[in-house]
Amino acid sequence: AGNLVTEQLIECMNFAAVKHRNQRRKDPDKTPYINHPLGVAYILMKEGGITDVQVLQGALLHDTVEDTETTFEEIEELFGSEVRGIVAEVTDDKTLPKMERKRLQVVNAPKKSHKAKLVKLADKLYNLRDLERATPEGWTTERVMEYFRWAAQVVEGLRGTNQMLENKLDELFKARGILP
Ligand code: NDP
Ligand code: ZN
Repeated sequence: AGNLVTEQLIECMNFAAVKHRNQRRKDPDKTPYINHPLGVAYILMKEGGITDVQVLQGALLHDTVEDTETTFEEIEELFGSEVRGIVAEVTDDKTLPKMERKRLQVVNAPKKSHKAKLVKLADKLYNLRDLERATPEGWTTERVMEYFRWAAQVVEGLRGTNQMLENKLDELFKARGILP
């Protein structure tokens, strides 16, 4: 299996790196954005035990359509319909107002496919750890706490997908007093 899978994954890493090249994370150090999709795939592999190549590709590409000019057609052309489908499931509709998008993430989480739920769990785990590591510029402690509470609601709808990832998320929620 080795060579093809390696090629598929490196194709995605390079594609995402090119697409996100001008973006930075919100932490005070303005970390290169590509660290995030790479880290989400890394969490799935090392902590979730996930080896499914389409899930790992979905993780590497998960913010390309939402945050860059990338289209779903481009993703399908290069990486196939299954990867396109995973990316589509984890992409917010940016034509909707921000609050509505956040509400829809909570409502729609239970309806997602198993593979999309895996990517969403790892994405939330990465973002919550990022917030623990450093508060983004301009964010109050209350806003960070709001984000944790919202993420916990999304994760409620993703349960029964990967016990290891869910346990690590639960530890973060318990430390914040969101879960008993
Ligand atoms: P945002 O949605 O604006 O930011 C969080 C998102 O930014 C994450 O989901 C993540 O998405 C990405 N991200 C980039 N860098 C980091 C990082 N270092 N750590 C964590 N996440 C990072 O935040 P809110 O959900 O708080 O805000 C929602 C809306 O409400 C916005 O319009 C905001 O301006 C507004 N608002 C909210 C306040 C509050 O108290 N909640 C206060 C003031 C305004 P990805 O995985 O896609 O990269
Ligand atoms: Zn993300």
